[in-house]
Amino acid sequence: MKEVGGFLRIGALEPLESLKQYEEIRTEFPMLIEAALSVGAPLLRKTATLGGNVLCENRCLYYNQSEWWRESVGYCLKCDGDICIATQGKKACFSELVSDTAPALIAMDAEIEVIDLDGARRVKLEDIYTGDGVKPRNLPETAIVTAILLPLDRGFSTSYFKLRQRESLEFTSLTAAIALDKTGKLKIALSGVDPKPVVVVGKKDDDPEGLIKKAIKGARAIDNDMYTRKYRREMIGVYLRRGLEKL
Ligand SMILES: Cc1cc2nc3c(=O)[nH]c(=O)nc-3n(C[C@H](O)[C@H](O)[C@H](O)COP(=O)(O)OP(=O)(O)OC[C@H]3O[C@@H](n4cnc5c(N)ncnc54)[C@H](O)[C@@H]3O)c2cc1C
Ligand code: SF4
Repeated sequence: MKEVGGFLRIGALEPLESLKQYEEIRTEFPMLIEAALSVGAPLLRKTATLGGNVLCENRCLYYNQSEWWRESVGYCLKCDGDICIATQGKKACFSELVSDTAPALIAMDAEIEVIDLDGARRVKLEDIYTGDGVKPRNLPETAIVTAILLPLDRGFSTSYFKLRQRESLEFTSLTAAIALDKTGKLKIALSGVDPKPVVVVGKKDDDPEGLIKKAIKGARAIDNDMYTRKYRREMIGVYLRRGLEKL
């Protein structure tokens, strides 16, 4: 971990559990620690890396099943089939991005450092997600993520929420992260409700209901989760209202 040109550079192999030991993260980006500690269970967080978490595979109730289950129900776009079973026939996959750290990082304007055959580059984290549930990221197969970078001295105030059935160990059904910086820039990022992060950028004095409406409209949630699409969309409003009020 080091400072690079106004950013805190966190190595991609940093385990989620160890992020909390760094003073710079505790003071400047506590939301990242909150997000990391909401992932899985303690054993998992000791080995799970930050780089791996932003790259973790999209999920869907109809995809994360056994071969026996899939054979009886039928195959889908993400697994040898030619339709989406969850939507009963659509030609697109809506498996959900379930990373819990990605929305926290994106809300705080994180960048990702990648090395592939063309060399090293840095891009905004949200730009690696395609929105296509079959191939959710646009990184080449040869790409290695080397670091995540967060901008220093932005004075973020933040709010973070995760909807899940069990607090102890559960993938997200909706993660909502909001960051307000000292210039008044407000950024909302959601996971669990779309194949890619839903991102809404605004300003401190914007009408909260307008921002919430944009976030709900951007979330292409379908009924492929433990909670219904309707409930998760309603919960976007609940979490964002609470978070914006707090900020
Ligand atoms: C029981 C269980 C519960 C879980 N709960 C949650 C949860 O609540 N929230 C959540 O967000 N995730 C959850 N996960 C998913 C996953 O374990 C975490 O996202 C974890 O952070 C992944 O990190 P990893 O280092 O193990 O990556 P891996 O799972 O090893 O890798 C993920 C993907 O990224 C690629 N990859 C990893 N590192 C790099 C790199 N540096 N460069 C290029 N490619 C790379 C791998 O090839 C793979 O395709 C859960 C998983 C399990 C098994
Ligand atoms: S959203 Fe549709 S295509 Fe994608 S994994 Fe689920 S059932 Fe398959």
